[in-house]
Amino acid sequence: MFDVLIIGLGCAGYTAAIYAARYKLSTFIVGMEDGGLGLTAAEVGNWPGDIDVTGPDLMERFKKHATSFENVTHKLARVEKVDKTASGFRLTLDDGSSIDGKTVIFAMGSKKRHLGVPGEREFSGKGVTYCATCDAFFYRGKDVAVIGGGDSAVEGAAIAAQVARKVYLVHRRAQLRAEPYWVDRVKARSNVTFVLERQVKEILGDGKVAGIKLDKPFEGADTLKVDGVFIEIGADPATELSDQLGCKKDDRGYLLVDEAMATSVPGVFGAGDLTSGSNHFAQFTTAAGEGAVAANSAFSHLQEH
Ligand code: NAP
Repeated sequence: MFDVLIIGLGCAGYTAAIYAARYKLSTFIVGMEDGGLGLTAAEVGNWPGDIDVTGPDLMERFKKHATSFENVTHKLARVEKVDKTASGFRLTLDDGSSIDGKTVIFAMGSKKRHLGVPGEREFSGKGVTYCATCDAFFYRGKDVAVIGGGDSAVEGAAIAAQVARKVYLVHRRAQLRAEPYWVDRVKARSNVTFVLERQVKEILGDGKVAGIKLDKPFEGADTLKVDGVFIEIGADPATELSDQLGCKKDDRGYLLVDEAMATSVPGVFGAGDLTSGSNHFAQFTTAAGEGAVAANSAFSHLQEH
């Protein structure tokens, strides 16, 4: 029986594990992929003290730190089920094993949104991808479209513009919501065209992506010829496991937590992109802060019970 079970191998989960380890809690941390969404950050730029670090490098360091403690057990596996037991909680993993713990920290992050237009599913992996910063490298000298107006889309367009011939940034509004730093980076690139107040109606192709169809013409045509489409329209909180325990959600569907990162179920805490915390501001810094608070709260809970 572990003191704390942490689900999620991203910034929030690993920070929680580091704090839990230093509180001398026996800690089990599990997830499907080391690094989580943090892996998709080509340049982080706002992790204090590190002017120049990539998401994968930062996440590798988090993992190394968390797993350096003897009282941290790390496992790559999918958690199929979470149950309440008489003495705490039980995780059932996809290899059939089960792990018991006294407290749980949910840190599963979020899942990328899909556009839901014709052609998206058909050309997924054949030109349609959901991580511009991960996949831009494969489009050297080609034309691509990045869809969205937030940090992921605008950062993705800036990275893609370094290798692609032409980048269309397609956003449904006149204003981008991304951090001005990234907007300036994109504006400085002569090979980026802003296609604003336009929605993608269909992804076109024949075996692989050949273009996108817009809801309104842009510069006289309602289709843009592209070889790749990076869909970066945000992400939804991954609450399937916390739903199994009946943890409450906020009106936007995020795992509801209080200032101690406690959920509505005693002994269960949340941290990172899936929670209602930090004003829904999903950053490395806020995920790390939430992970630290969640581990501290798990420690207090164990002392009190
Ligand atoms: P986001 O901030 O939620 O932005 C999603 C964008 O996609 C919005 O511009 C939204 O349009 C658009 N959109 C949503 N649904 C759409 C649809 N069905 N069709 C067309 N457009 C659609 O998501 P994100 O950019 O992935 O960022 C998520 C979080 O991660 C944020 O907190 C962000 O700050 C953080 N992040 C930070 C960095 C960084 O700091 N370097 C990098 C990446 C992500 P509207 O504007 O009309 O809503």
